[in-house]
Amino acid sequence: MSQHADIAIIGAGAAGLAASIFAAQTNPSLHIVLLDSAKTIGAKILVSGGGRCNVTNQKVTASDFHGDRKLIDRILRRFDEQATIQWFDALGVPLHTETTGKLFPTSNKARTVLDALLNRCKALSISLRTQHHIQSITRQKEHFLIQSLNGVLTAKQVILATGGRSLPKTGSDGSGWVLAQNFGHTIAPTYPALVPLLLADSFFHANLSGISHDVMLTTRVNNQIADRRTGSLLWTHFGISGPVVLDVSRFWIREAEQRTTVQLHLNCFPQTTYKEVEQWLIQAGQGPGNTTVQTLLAERLPSRVATQLAAFLEPALALTPANLLQKNIRSKLIHTLTDLSLPVLGSRGWNFAEVTAGGVPLQEINPFTMESKKVPGIYLTGEMLDCDGRIGGFNFQWAWSTGYLAGYHAAQRTREKQFQT
Ligand SMILES: Cc1cc2nc3c(=O)[nH]c(=O)nc-3n(C[C@H](O)[C@H](O)[C@H](O)COP(=O)(O)OP(=O)(O)OC[C@H]3O[C@@H](n4cnc5c(N)ncnc54)[C@H](O)[C@@H]3O)c2cc1C
Repeated sequence: MSQHADIAIIGAGAAGLAASIFAAQTNPSLHIVLLDSAKTIGAKILVSGGGRCNVTNQKVTASDFHGDRKLIDRILRRFDEQATIQWFDALGVPLHTETTGKLFPTSNKARTVLDALLNRCKALSISLRTQHHIQSITRQKEHFLIQSLNGVLTAKQVILATGGRSLPKTGSDGSGWVLAQNFGHTIAPTYPALVPLLLADSFFHANLSGISHDVMLTTRVNNQIADRRTGSLLWTHFGISGPVVLDVSRFWIREAEQRTTVQLHLNCFPQTTYKEVEQWLIQAGQGPGNTTVQTLLAERLPSRVATQLAAFLEPALALTPANLLQKNIRSKLIHTLTDLSLPVLGSRGWNFAEVTAGGVPLQEINPFTMESKKVPGIYLTGEMLDCDGRIGGFNFQWAWSTGYLAGYHAAQRTREKQFQT
């Protein structure tokens, strides 16, 4: 590979594909080369959203992300969820909105999304080169030299879209950060996010594997509430997963990596106050008959969860008649139901993480163009940046928005240079 490109894009994931398409659309006369280390493109898109690809959300705001929200807002505004919907429609991929607010292709197949992006690249004559792992990029006068085992490519401008480290078998191995560091960029500490959590073997989670229900999770750092959110929790053989767990995972992992005292507390009665639960148990206890504690709890919880929670407090409690509950046991039970400290051991790690927290700080990027403030002509996009979204299509929206800005502005800049020469 010894050739020249007007714009080289490193990484053909969501952000890189978007950047290439918008660059080519902005200036069709450009020679655009899209390089990726993977043998086949789009593995992450294909597995996303359970194989359906949650492309965006009906409402995307900076508060759906972690990072510098002022800068995130500036970036999102320039290519928002409405622009994404229209863009996909123009690509021949109409989207539909589900009750959760998530948008999926109407085909409900991630393959439709990937094929549309690749077909558009082809139609725009973008040169897509697989199995090109970029080892270094250096600046030489007016050009960048892009080095891989396949040889050297020179380019007037370079868009970095190498992702983070989530699901590394798809090619996102973190090597892009080294490329950015060589241009003077710093990297905010990185850790897996949107990832299931492991619980101690001694806990009862394995007995509930496959059951999901709504809960509230509170992350306490040094005994102060750092995050609190409600949603669906899924019990698994290794611990806990489901949307609310994925969303809180970043808080627990970040603190644990900094060796801060961090605890995760489970409330199985998210819409109910302590007093209301107490009132309910007292009234139920006054009723006739010999309803057991587990039967009573099963009125409001999946029955296996009810049994495990009661038995966790005291093995015999599940089968104890509710009207025999002593006051001190009742208050311990309410505590177990509404504020149970979960024995989190860690996360399932990068192989199961949907996204990377941390990365290149947004303050090092021009938020209007995604151009590096360190080296003009270098643009940074997508998951390699210090911004991660919650579950719900927000991370793809980040990839499309940043890809759009980088592609459009890199192409504009090249056009300006063409007119100048
Ligand atoms: C299982 C799973 C499900 C997900 N589901 C959703 C979802 O439904 N909705 C949502 O919004 N988000 C989802 N995400 C997150 C979303 O997929 C990512 O945030 C998004 O794909 C990031 O895009 P990116 O282009 O920045 O990075 P990536 O998609 O990681 O792409 C980076 C590319 O760069 C290439 N690369 C890396 N280093 C080099 C190098 N040195 N040289 C050449 N090429 C290189 C890699 O091979 C890779 O193809 C999911 C993630 C996972 C893992």
